[in-house]
Amino acid sequence: MLQPPPLRNDCFALPPGVDWTPVDDALGLLRDRLSPVTASQSVPLSAALGRVLAEDVIASRSNPPQANSAVDGYGFAGPAGAGAHVLPLVAGRAAAGVPHDGSVPAGKAIRILTGAALPPGVDTVIMEEDVTAEPGRIAFHGPLKAGANARRAGEDIAEGETALRAGRRLGPGDLALLAAVGVANVPVRARLRVAVLSTGDELVEAGQAAGPGRIYDANRPMLLGVIERLGFHPVDMGRVGDDRGALRARLDEAAGAADAILTSGGASAGDEDHVSALLKETGALQEWRIAVKPGRPLALALWGGRPVFGLPGNPVAAMVCTLVFAAPALALLSGQGWRDPQGFDLPAAFEKRKKPGRREYLRARVRGGRAEVFHSEGSGRISGLSWADGLVELGDGERHVRPGDPVRFIPWGGFGL
Ligand code: AMP
Ligand code: MG
Repeated sequence: MLQPPPLRNDCFALPPGVDWTPVDDALGLLRDRLSPVTASQSVPLSAALGRVLAEDVIASRSNPPQANSAVDGYGFAGPAGAGAHVLPLVAGRAAAGVPHDGSVPAGKAIRILTGAALPPGVDTVIMEEDVTAEPGRIAFHGPLKAGANARRAGEDIAEGETALRAGRRLGPGDLALLAAVGVANVPVRARLRVAVLSTGDELVEAGQAAGPGRIYDANRPMLLGVIERLGFHPVDMGRVGDDRGALRARLDEAAGAADAILTSGGASAGDEDHVSALLKETGALQEWRIAVKPGRPLALALWGGRPVFGLPGNPVAAMVCTLVFAAPALALLSGQGWRDPQGFDLPAAFEKRKKPGRREYLRARVRGGRAEVFHSEGSGRISGLSWADGLVELGDGERHVRPGDPVRFIPWGGFGL
């Protein structure tokens, strides 16, 4: 296993004098300071789905490996000029996997099936639907260009070319390509392990009795789900109350079990905000006051050498901060490289006035080609997360959105979910 170097302890430090950090600056800092932390290994192709390529993969075979027919028909040496042609047939045929063992003389044709290697003397195929055939000969009308209905050797990808680049998260189409170019063992990164930990005395596990003042832990199932959908390995670290000793012990455990840690709750500067207080003790905490709604605060630190994303407790803010800040950063740590969310412009189905100086994310969905937003912007309104299919992103400046104006919609999938 090839192990990358550890992260620097001051990797989250903000430049002096910086107070409210614009979203793009925060993202730029994460992008500059973080690097891949996962080791490399080789896995069989059958186990490579969803894994991240550790190296460029070179084609060890061309696709297609030899020129072959794209249709069922008759092969000959092209071109065939305009007008009627009658060609005598040679004996035998060429089929996929069963090549013809002779060559085809000029002026003659051979029966050929889809995927069959072109025999010597053949570079052009006429489709059987365009032919009148009788024993021993065929007739058809030209013109037909040389090379028609044939696939050239290596026309898709040639031996020695780069088939896929390092950092690619392998999908089903990638597995097809790797198989086609003769790659059976794939160099991949170890899956990034991401620990998820909830904090707060008020939290109760789903299914348990919840007394007055208690609420069910909603962030943990959500964040574990996000981690899994992003292709990482989720490590469930449970819940801890607002107790510094318990939190310290659990963070130690998490640092031993995972490559990165997501906590939610307790990240502000209040009396019961033990996550930020404890992270401060390590000397590596940076509280980032990011100009984003919903969001602040986001605490970033290293604990036992592992990056910790101290997310806000409010579920909507926790989700937005995870998708906007943690997801691209985790992609970088995992070896995929930085990944910007992919969205697109749609006409708004709503009106909204927005102040300058911060970026805003609204729970949104698309109906009739227009972006609708959830009726409330309350950061504790969990039902809106379930209602939405993604987020509308409103830029840092002042904005008065009127119905029909273009707004940027980022579907959950655009964040990698
Ligand atoms: P905090 O950041 O700890 O001040 O929490 C902010 C708000 O989010 C409070 O109303 C908490 O009760 C709530 N909250 C914190 N953690 C969770 C959680 N895991 N699930 C649901 N709500 C939470
Ligand atoms: Mg709390």
